[in-house]
Amino acid sequence: MFETLSDRLTSALQNLRGKGKLTDADVDATAREIRIALLEADVALPVVRTFINQIKQRAKGAEVSQALNPAQQVIKIVNEELVGILGGETRRLNLAKNPPTVIMLAGLQGSGKTTLAGKLAMHLKKQGHAPLLVACDLQRPNAVTQLQVVGERAGVRVFAPEPGNGVGDPVAVARDSVAEARSAQHDVVIVDTAGRLGVDEEMMRQAADIRDEVEPNETLFVVDAMIGQDAVSTAEAFRDGVGFTGVVLTKLDGDARGGAALSVREVTGAPILYASNGEKLEDFDAFHPDRMASRILGMGDMLTLIEQAEQAFDQEQAEQAASKLSTGEMTLEDFLDQMLAVRKMGPIGNLLGMLPGAGQMKDQLAGIDDNYLDRLQAIIRGMTPEERANPKIINGSRRSRIANGSGVQVREVNDLVNRFFEARKMMQQMAGQFGMGGGKSATK
Ligand code: GDP
Repeated sequence: MFETLSDRLTSALQNLRGKGKLTDADVDATAREIRIALLEADVALPVVRTFINQIKQRAKGAEVSQALNPAQQVIKIVNEELVGILGGETRRLNLAKNPPTVIMLAGLQGSGKTTLAGKLAMHLKKQGHAPLLVACDLQRPNAVTQLQVVGERAGVRVFAPEPGNGVGDPVAVARDSVAEARSAQHDVVIVDTAGRLGVDEEMMRQAADIRDEVEPNETLFVVDAMIGQDAVSTAEAFRDGVGFTGVVLTKLDGDARGGAALSVREVTGAPILYASNGEKLEDFDAFHPDRMASRILGMGDMLTLIEQAEQAFDQEQAEQAASKLSTGEMTLEDFLDQMLAVRKMGPIGNLLGMLPGAGQMKDQLAGIDDNYLDRLQAIIRGMTPEERANPKIINGSRRSRIANGSGVQVREVNDLVNRFFEARKMMQQMAGQFGMGGGKSATK
C-alpha cells in the first residue's frame, strides 16, 4: 500500500532539489503534483483541499529557516502536514481507572473485526493484561465459532452464549461478560459486535444498545483500508449511528491506494489507534502517525537528517563559516569547528549514507569514518594557533613535531595538510547539502 502515492510524492519533491530559492510558481507546481498524487490515491476531496492549502500557505515564504534549504523546508512541511492529517501524536488506548476496561468493536462485516479482536487481545496480553473476548455477533452463522478459533490462537478466553439456546440477546451477553470479567479478574473486555455487508439501521441500533448497556471506555471503528472512498461514508454513518472514540485500519498490506487511511481521521476527527497488515495475529501494531507519514513520503532518512541539521545548527557559526568558505579564507581552525559541528549530528557514516548525492562524491568520501576524523582532530589540536590560521607555514620540522605531539605518523600530517584544500572543497559541498548558511552560501 502507498507505493504509488509514495513514488509520486517523492518525484514531486525531487523537482525542488537544487533550487536555491523557491518562487511562488515552484510552490504552486509542486502543490499541483501533490494534489494529483493524493486524488489518485483516493484521498477524500475535502482532505486534499485542506492539505494543499496548508502546504501552499506554509511553503510560500512564511517560514524562513536558516538551517534548511528550500527543498528540505518543503519536505519538512509536507511531512508535518501528513503527520497532522494522520492524527499528530500517537494515541494510546484509554484504560479504565476501575477495571475492566471495556472496548467495543464496530464495523462492517468483512472489515476484519473478528480477526482484529484476536490481534488486539494478543497484543494486550503481551503487555501483561488479562483480556476477555466477547462474542456479541449472534446473527452471522459461525461468528461465535470464528471468535473462538481466534481466541484459541491468541491464547485468550472467549465469553459466548451457550450453544443451542437459539439466537441470544447480544446486549445481555455484553452485560454478563462485564460481570464475568469482574469476578474472573479480567482487566480488559473486548466486545465483537455484529456487522452487515452494508450499513443498516438494525445493526446500528444493536451496536448502540450494547454501547448503552456496557458504556465502553473505547469504541473502535474497524475499517478495511481497501474499500477506498467508501471508507469515508461508512465512517460517517458509524459516527452518527453509534459514535466511536478511535479507528482501527485493517488490510494495510493490500495493494489499494491507501486514501482511506489518509482520510478517515480528518473526516471523522477520531484518532487511528491501531493498524492491521495481514491475516496472522502478529500482523498488527499501534498506529504512529509520524512513522506512517515518513513511510508514505518514503524519505525516512532524509527527514532524520533534516531534524538533526536543525538541532545541530548554530546560526552564528554557520554564517561565519559560510562567509569564509565563499572568500576562500577558511583555516584549519574553522575546519576543526565545522568538523565538530557536523559530528554533533551523529556518526559520520550514518550522515554520509543519508546524504542525497553521496554516491556521486564516493571518491572524496572513501575512507572517512569516525576513526579517521578522530585522528584529524588530534592532528589539528597538536598545531599552534598560528599554524592552524596559516597552514602554509607548516614545514618539515613542524610536521614532525605535530606528528609526535598527536601520536600519528608524519605521513598522516602531510596527508592532512596536502588534502586541506581538497577537504575545504568538500566541506563547501557538504555545507550546501546540509543547508548550512540557509542557502545563501550553498552554491557559491
Ligand atoms: P469481520 O467480518 O469484520 O469479523 O471480518 P473477519 O475478521 O472475519 O475478516 C474478514 C477477512 O479479512 C478474513 O478472511 C480475514 O482473514 C481477512 N483479514 C482481516 N484482517 C486482515 C488484514 O489486516 N490483512 C489481510 N490481508 N486480511 C485480513
